[in-house]
Amino acid sequence: MANSKYEYVKAFERENYLLPETYIVIRVDGKGFHKFSQYYGFEKPNDIRALRVMNKTALKVMERYSDVCMAYGDSDEYSFLLRRKCELYERREMKLCTLFASLMSTYYMFYWNLEFGENPISEEMIPTFDARAVVYPHFEVVRDYFSWRQVDCHINNLYNTAFWSLVKLGLTPQESEQRLMGTVSSDKNEILFKECGINYNNELEIFKKGTILVRELVNYAPKSDLSSRQKQREDKVRRKAEIKSYHVDIINDDSWWESRPWLSE
Ligand code: ATP
Ligand code: ATP
Ligand code: MG
Ligand code: MG
Repeated sequence: MANSKYEYVKAFERENYLLPETYIVIRVDGKGFHKFSQYYGFEKPNDIRALRVMNKTALKVMERYSDVCMAYGDSDEYSFLLRRKCELYERREMKLCTLFASLMSTYYMFYWNLEFGENPISEEMIPTFDARAVVYPHFEVVRDYFSWRQVDCHINNLYNTAFWSLVKLGLTPQESEQRLMGTVSSDKNEILFKECGINYNNELEIFKKGTILVRELVNYAPKSDLSSRQKQREDKVRRKAEIKSYHVDIINDDSWWESRPWLSE
């Protein structure tokens, strides 16, 4: 296209290229989902159908980009791990973040309307997501990152389960909040068991652990210095690999990580 006298404005643009040879995590989070969940009458503390919509949405995003080797999600958030060698959009931060946020928002709407045909999305309250990208230098930090998110899921879920169980017993939200103020995990477990007749251990794993999506490579063998032809073949293997879903502990289970060495490749 011909240059115009206006083209100099392009020189004001800035781009952040995420550090090479580092693991990229893109975390998306629903904007104002507390209100969103009230507007659409989510079951509290956990609406399983809404979680299903999140999981289908994240799976679709993962299917589209084979550089995403794993994802973890709960509530209105999902974290996508992009492999260290990822060259998607030259690792441009803005491109990646805006793309992931918009894919989440549009696919969420699509899957919501499939799941909740009787209660479709209204223009008054649309699902929107923001996204941030963080790079991590070692896989150890990546594991700690996912542990951080899974601990967060556990803490929030235990609190929410206790809170809503007390509300269902007849306490007002303010009274439930007061009742839980200053309590530690064991207190909440006891309140649930003694006052609400709920054994927290028997709650669904998807609520307690969140959802882990992994691209499962079979017959994987670590390689270095691949030719471009070999790289293409590897790309194809990744694209074709099955993506599996789990609701398990990924904090303490070393074997879970060790049996998937391609995640730290
Ligand atoms: P922000 O825009 O700052 O993210 P937010 O209202 O989305 O604000 P979050 O901290 O992200 O706040 O929390 C998400 C909220 O969405 C939860 O606190 C919960 O109320 C609600 N929520 C999300 N998913 C579910 C679900 N499956 N079942 C019930 N409630 C849910
Ligand atoms: P990228 O992902 O890099 O943005 P792109 O295919 O979206 O790639 P753009 O430079 O953004 O490329 O150009 C948008 C293209 O979309 C136009 O070249 C044109 O072909 C098409 N397009 C967009 N809006 C219209 C429209 N209203 N009518 C016809 N064609 C359109
Ligand atoms: Mg949110
Ligand atoms: Mg959130």
